[in-house]
Amino acid sequence: MSHFSYQNGVLCVENTALADIAGRFGTPTYIYSKATLVENYSAYANACKQNDRNHNSALICYSVKSNSNLAVLNLLGRLGSGFDIVSGGELLRVIAAGGDPGKVIFSGVGKTRDEMKLALSHDILCFNVESVPELHRLNQVAGEMGKQASVSLRVNPNVDAKTHPYISTGLKENKFGVAYEDALSAYRTAAALPHLTVTGIDCHIGSQLLDDAPLLEALDKVIDLIDRLAAENIQLHHLDIGGGIGITYDDERPVAIGDYLTRLFARIDAWRTAKYQGTPIKVMFEPGRSIVGNAGVLLTEIQYLKHGATKNFAVVDAAMNDLMRPAMYEAWHRVQPVMERDVPARTYDVVGPVCESGDWLARARALAIEQGDLLAIMSAGAYGMTMASNYNTRGRAAEVMVDGGRVHLIRKREAAHDLFALESILP
Ligand SMILES: *Cc1c(COP(=O)(O)O)cnc(C)c1O
Repeated sequence: MSHFSYQNGVLCVENTALADIAGRFGTPTYIYSKATLVENYSAYANACKQNDRNHNSALICYSVKSNSNLAVLNLLGRLGSGFDIVSGGELLRVIAAGGDPGKVIFSGVGKTRDEMKLALSHDILCFNVESVPELHRLNQVAGEMGKQASVSLRVNPNVDAKTHPYISTGLKENKFGVAYEDALSAYRTAAALPHLTVTGIDCHIGSQLLDDAPLLEALDKVIDLIDRLAAENIQLHHLDIGGGIGITYDDERPVAIGDYLTRLFARIDAWRTAKYQGTPIKVMFEPGRSIVGNAGVLLTEIQYLKHGATKNFAVVDAAMNDLMRPAMYEAWHRVQPVMERDVPARTYDVVGPVCESGDWLARARALAIEQGDLLAIMSAGAYGMTMASNYNTRGRAAEVMVDGGRVHLIRKREAAHDLFALESILP
């Protein structure tokens, strides 16, 4: 059930009218629905509870980069979530939000020594290592600190996720992970390094996947590697299948989380029963978009309507710096007027004020609108605010979270002086 819906012609989130939020906090503003976040996380948690025969040891590690606001992280942490991070900054956010570092896994191709030190000092659960040189560096840093680093290798299973090339990560030509053919030798290297403890394996093949077939294909390849490693006496204790399940932006019909997890756990059970006398393995997930994507909208106000010979433009106060996805991936977001109006609809491009032709949020949409109206850019909860920039010296948007009839400001709007506070002029 969507918590964004029209009630008597006005668009509401849970029990709150979006127009009231604009009145209190201005625009552009990101608005998140707490109920949607909880439901989306629970879809994973409940499916794990129902299907994981391993004493419910499965761990959902929310992908922090999809939306890293402290209120979002805190809410998910309280629900029991772990976190998948890709930088030291994200680890500090998780800790600031009250998250448990013992449930943090650290992904990313370019971890620095300082980031490794920070993560080791907080005793994170596991490093998802993406190359052999990274194994050597991590071993050295851990040794210097007198620590053991738990590692999992991110293998690249070379399956086609059939998604946008920019968000596909599991093909041979991608920069991510260790090539499938090289994985055995990389594991042997890891197992021989004194300050590393090999604990698991992971993969993440891409984002906005609508079908779980590529994920199950990746699972089969991962299972095959685990068996081959076991034959060499390298025992893995966890299997992390990554994130990547898509959401509905337009008319996409992504696989239901419960169906996907039921199929995944069934395969894992059959395999453990056949080959390991039923001894369990800990299963982990790294979902981002499917938890937060449809829990957020970007609220914006129409500044001007420009009616031209070939095109009409609705110039709004949100721009590519607030929501980069259309400019970057030609992503499609639904645009909904906050108030239903009895004026004829016209076809508009919804554009921002930034000085770039790529600064558009939506193209060729039939909208019944007037100057000064509010628009909601839907499904903007993931990779929205986290990808925002200050281009054109535009302060980043405010963020609010709605909980029923209550509205909480969870990030203040940036003011211009915030944007140049760290700069200085020559003496
Ligand atoms: C971005 C990312 C995710 C989350 O992907 P979604 O498509 O948002 O679920 C998970 N794991 C890794 C390693 C990532 O980089």
